[in-house]
Amino acid sequence: MEKLVRELQQYGQVQENVSLRTMTTLRIGGNARIVVYPKNILALTQVIREIKEANAPYKLIGKGSNLLCSDDDYNGVVIRLDRTFTEYYFDHDICYAEAGCSIIALAYSAMKNSLSGLEFASGIPGTVGGVTFMNAGAYKSNMASIIQEVFVYRDGQLCWMDVNECEFAYRTSIFQKHLDWIVLAVKMKLEQGNEEEIRALMDQRRERRMSSQPLEMPSAGSVFRNPDDRAAWQYIEDIGYRGKSIGGAAVSEKHVNFIVNKDNATASDFISLVSEIQDKVKEQFGVELKMEVEKFNWQTK
Ligand SMILES: Cc1cc2nc3c(=O)[nH]c(=O)nc-3n(C[C@H](O)[C@H](O)[C@H](O)COP(=O)(O)OP(=O)(O)OC[C@H]3O[C@@H](n4cnc5c(N)ncnc54)[C@H](O)[C@@H]3O)c2cc1C
Repeated sequence: MEKLVRELQQYGQVQENVSLRTMTTLRIGGNARIVVYPKNILALTQVIREIKEANAPYKLIGKGSNLLCSDDDYNGVVIRLDRTFTEYYFDHDICYAEAGCSIIALAYSAMKNSLSGLEFASGIPGTVGGVTFMNAGAYKSNMASIIQEVFVYRDGQLCWMDVNECEFAYRTSIFQKHLDWIVLAVKMKLEQGNEEEIRALMDQRRERRMSSQPLEMPSAGSVFRNPDDRAAWQYIEDIGYRGKSIGGAAVSEKHVNFIVNKDNATASDFISLVSEIQDKVKEQFGVELKMEVEKFNWQTK
């Protein structure tokens, strides 16, 4: 790993033994052996090449707002784009944004440019890369409804993929099937609008989130995907798990599909609560709740 650290330093900022707690909104996880912020696309391609040559595992992380990292240390490389891949451009109603941009910051910039379409994303604490990977959404809108093309590094090539090739569906995209593909940037189609109206809608949504989500505590957003028939929160409510806690992890009183890190929760506190909920819902309703939050660095997936 020492040799790999030296090689990677040519291509960007490198940090060693960084706690994944500091890289995730849930504030849970062991240490990552190496973290690298590649300077640009060329550096990123070289970073991948060096990591592969060293036979080391790697993981791309955005803002870590959808991740449940295990308590174990990660003896691999975390690649982050949120310091260097942060350029964006507006060309009339088209927005080009690099993968490391904060989607919240981008939504505010779009508003300042009187462009409508990103209001739904103004409270999602992810990067452009992460929200594309997840097809993140809210208020009946999602990334697929504004993305026209995605600029991707795949199989050693750079290419633009049309939205129709991205297999976007509810919190799903083709990128979840190809974990080695890297989203570098997206091209989004927005609509000309009125800055004050866009601001008012964003303010209204922020207030709604603040009153309905436990934003004062670390979390990874909604833990479970909504099954077809009913929202996941309704099942959790029906099994009586509002406020239920294991160790430092607790089902939020405010929004039962959020599990918050109330008091130095470990990953095993969190996953024990997840498993209990899944078992009870299965037992009482025959429904399998699937996690929306992604487990990272677990021995068994
Ligand atoms: C308070 C709170 C509220 C939330 N509200 C919502 C909501 O309203 N709607 C919603 O959909 N989600 C919501 N989320 C969940 C989360 O913000 C989204 O899933 C978001 O898309 C994750 O983005 P990220 O950059 O943090 O990705 P990360 O969590 O860092 O990574 C998620 C996955 O994306 C992959 N990835 C990241 N960047 C790239 C890239 N450039 N190329 C390829 N793969 C990449 C990672 O490898 C990982 O597999 C919320 C989370 C929190 C904490």
